[in-house]
Amino acid sequence: MSQNHKSFIIRINPKILGIFVFSFFSILSIFITERIYEIEKKREFLQVEHEAILFKKQLESSLNHSITATKVISFFAKKFISSEEFAKISKELLAQNPFIDAIQLVEGSTIIHTYPLTGNEITIGYDIRNEDIHINEAMKAKSRQELYFEGPFELIQGGIGIVGRFPIYRNEKFWGFSAVVLRAKTFLSAFGIDPKGKNSNFVYELTKRGEDGSDIGKFFNHDPNYNKGIFHKEEVSLGDWNLYVKARSPKHLVRSLPYGVLGVILSVVLGILSYRMSNEPQRLQSLVDQKTAELNLLNESLKQKARDLEITNSEMEQFAYIASHDLQEPLRMVTSFLTQLEKKYSESLDEKAKLYIYYAVDGAKRMRQIILDLLDFSRVGKFDEEKEAIDLRRIIDQVSFILRKSIEEKSAEINIISIPESIFCHKTPIEQIFQNLLSNALKYSATERTPVIEISCTELEDFWEFSIKDNGIGIDEDAFDRIFIIFQRLHAKDEYGGTGMGLSIVKKIVENLGGRIWVKSNKGEGSTFYFTIRK
Ligand code: ADP
Repeated sequence: MSQNHKSFIIRINPKILGIFVFSFFSILSIFITERIYEIEKKREFLQVEHEAILFKKQLESSLNHSITATKVISFFAKKFISSEEFAKISKELLAQNPFIDAIQLVEGSTIIHTYPLTGNEITIGYDIRNEDIHINEAMKAKSRQELYFEGPFELIQGGIGIVGRFPIYRNEKFWGFSAVVLRAKTFLSAFGIDPKGKNSNFVYELTKRGEDGSDIGKFFNHDPNYNKGIFHKEEVSLGDWNLYVKARSPKHLVRSLPYGVLGVILSVVLGILSYRMSNEPQRLQSLVDQKTAELNLLNESLKQKARDLEITNSEMEQFAYIASHDLQEPLRMVTSFLTQLEKKYSESLDEKAKLYIYYAVDGAKRMRQIILDLLDFSRVGKFDEEKEAIDLRRIIDQVSFILRKSIEEKSAEINIISIPESIFCHKTPIEQIFQNLLSNALKYSATERTPVIEISCTELEDFWEFSIKDNGIGIDEDAFDRIFIIFQRLHAKDEYGGTGMGLSIVKKIVENLGGRIWVKSNKGEGSTFYFTIRK
């Protein structure tokens, strides 16, 4: 598993992964932005188309009023119609049609009536043949036999407008036209378009369609690019017009751009993120490698220290062994020569000299004991024998046998309260622990009472906890720790003999077996020594 993981890390370079993720999401966001751009553009095209159709419908419906008006006038003009009658009917018609600015009657090609006359006086008697364009456009109405609009053009009465003409026949013969005049201003304001042909959202253009379909005249002439960009064209047949509606400020780019920008930002973030994430295991790996190297180094130096310590220890042991061995020889010489001195020259030595010799021999003896104890101490921890099941009762019996002289002298009692049948351990060290602790319990007994010693053991989870309790002289609480230190004694040598090494040897053995030792005592009442042995 970890192998796969590692090879995966090695295979994908974080930089390449980062660039790949960035490129992938960039391309994806460009694609999405492009789609959004197209959709927004299409939406705007649909909007202008919708507006163009709506506008065309409105335009046609308002021009349809003109059809009614011209038809009514033509009906009355089939016979002679006086100017009063014309004015009366026209007045009525204008009242109903707000888009129409004036109504005219044209006989042949000459305007004979205009309503309202005020402001339009100049039109009376005007011959439309004066200008080719007028007569051409009028002829279209005649040939189509229906209302047809000319314009937009500059009206002779002033202003821009369109004129719709409907042919009139008297007795089956062409007589003239009924006509309506629509001023551009009037109906543009009705549609909510300003005189330049725009409102807040759209630009409008109404052009005259030439024979070849091209635009030959412009209504508004405001935007030269009226047929470029987002626009829609509708044909209006009533005047052969092309109606153009164009979006004033197309927003599809502005609307789609934020998606593009967002996409690029997202791609950068994702690229960096994937770079970081794929880099992290490598970084952690190198951190782990570094820490492992440090630990290995530390381990090495610890091992070296342990080796050094081992060497020092064995050197020390060798030293202690050799020293104690080699010291014994001169010590023996001192003792034997002193003994010889006392024997051979006994008669010539006075009592003082004999006492000096006695002290010297005694000192040498104690020194020998110290050397032997030191030798024991230096040997603790060297368990040459294998572990075995030890019968503790037998051990206590053997120790009691060794200590029998003192037990008998003091009529001491050794009671076993509770101990396990056997424990699995090295035998000699266990023997030594019991021997040292029991001999102390006998040695430091109180003269005024019979020594009673109790041995017990409690089973703990990982240890056996032993206790050896006596009713001896007890120990000061201050000395609880001190007594386990090498050569530390609480008494003068003539009070209680000893080298002060017994307990330190026991402590060293117990700790070597993975346990610990401590004491509880009440001065004058007795002491209990506790020690644990790992199971
Ligand atoms: P030593 O007995 O040779 O002096 P130990 O190391 O065995 O050395 O004991 C150290 C000191 O602890 C003794 O000098 C004695 O004062 C005290 N001690 C040890 N065992 C007992 C005991 N059972 N009761 C009272 N005092 C004790």
